[in-house]
Amino acid sequence: MRAAVIAVGSELLSTDRLDTNSLRVAALLERYGVELVGKSVAGDDERAVATEIGRRLADAELVVVSGGLGPTADDVTREAVAAALGRPLVEDPEVWRAIERRFASFGRVPTANNRRQAEIIAGARVLPNPRGTAPGQRLELDGGRALILLPGVPVELEGLLAEQVEPWLAARAGGAALEYAVLKTAMRPESEVDRELEPAYAEFGREAITVLAAPGEVRVRLSARGPEPERRARLEAMRARVRALLGRAVFAEQGEATLEGVVGALLAGRGLTVATAESCTGGLLAERLTRVPGSSGWFPGGVVAYANESKVRDLGVPEALLAAHGAVSEPVARALAQGARQRFATSLGVGITGIAGPDGGSPEKPVGTVHVALAGPDERTIHRPYRLPGDRERVRWFAAQAALEMIRRRLLFRTGAEEEA
Ligand code: AMP
Ligand code: MG
Repeated sequence: MRAAVIAVGSELLSTDRLDTNSLRVAALLERYGVELVGKSVAGDDERAVATEIGRRLADAELVVVSGGLGPTADDVTREAVAAALGRPLVEDPEVWRAIERRFASFGRVPTANNRRQAEIIAGARVLPNPRGTAPGQRLELDGGRALILLPGVPVELEGLLAEQVEPWLAARAGGAALEYAVLKTAMRPESEVDRELEPAYAEFGREAITVLAAPGEVRVRLSARGPEPERRARLEAMRARVRALLGRAVFAEQGEATLEGVVGALLAGRGLTVATAESCTGGLLAERLTRVPGSSGWFPGGVVAYANESKVRDLGVPEALLAAHGAVSEPVARALAQGARQRFATSLGVGITGIAGPDGGSPEKPVGTVHVALAGPDERTIHRPYRLPGDRERVRWFAAQAALEMIRRRLLFRTGAEEEA
């Protein structure tokens, strides 16, 4: 099967926004062995969109169009498809009722222009969009060709790709041709992960293993092609090998998994709680912990303590420690962690203190100096000093990441040596 993708939106032609939807579509097509023969961008112009659709349909069996299904006058994809195919638009009463219900759930009523979003190209199948107002549409045309319209909002497009397009494509393409597995590590340099993976490269081939680095996180993506059951077996063999090579550094084996989510699940599973005392991260650690649904069960709270007075008053850090070592120091990080643990009566307490920059550095304590300490769940308090790279935002992100990884290792591994490994 040959496919083409058309992204509709004038903002995608200007300097405002990059077309990322076509990447999601391309990833899905790749997995099902569908050849992507072209990608294009069209502005919010009915003639331009209609021309592009006609041109692509002449050459590909599958054309996926993203965007231009909104309620405003510049959303012209429906009209453009109707013009390109010579078919009328008809209002679908069921879709209109769904739009009314959606608005009612927010305590609002739809406006007249929302009515356009209930218009369906004659003969199209409606692809329900639970994340937004405009549904997608799928048209099966003669010659075995198909045209799929998807909303432009990325989360809506991704939802419809997974729920509506993938099952349809799987049936048409006879199952997936390419499958992925993902393993994620935190606070490990990309180059070290790469070196540790060398035996796996030798065994499975370099092209089957991709190392993708994000700040404080390295993800290893494994891919296997070919028919089942060999493909799945190969993927599992690769996964086992990589897991063995990277060992304790692997925190998740799902692409969507987050470090805070893994930490939250560990705390919940063990009936433990954590409190935070944050200086240089300004609450970022607490923010990340509370992204996890159910976090109120294991995170009673934290303190953002910037001034020394706050560290003393709110967390019980001894003034003498601050005077002797300075706020950015191992003893103060330890006292912050212990103070958070005591004040909130939690199993664990985390203390973070550091210099995020761009000012405030000195030769002894340059920008990026961060101390992270973790008190509990027993009477032990552990500490790690960091020299983190990058600008203010990056230092803060790394510091929160380091704290989360410290909690994960503390909960999973028995000894200090295992935690460090
Ligand atoms: P639309 O469905 O055209 O009204 O688009 C809704 C929102 O999604 C707008 O904020 C668009 O900028 C965004 N959007 C539309 N198409 C794309 C695309 N191809 N890639 C990324 N964002 C997009
Ligand atoms: Mg648009």
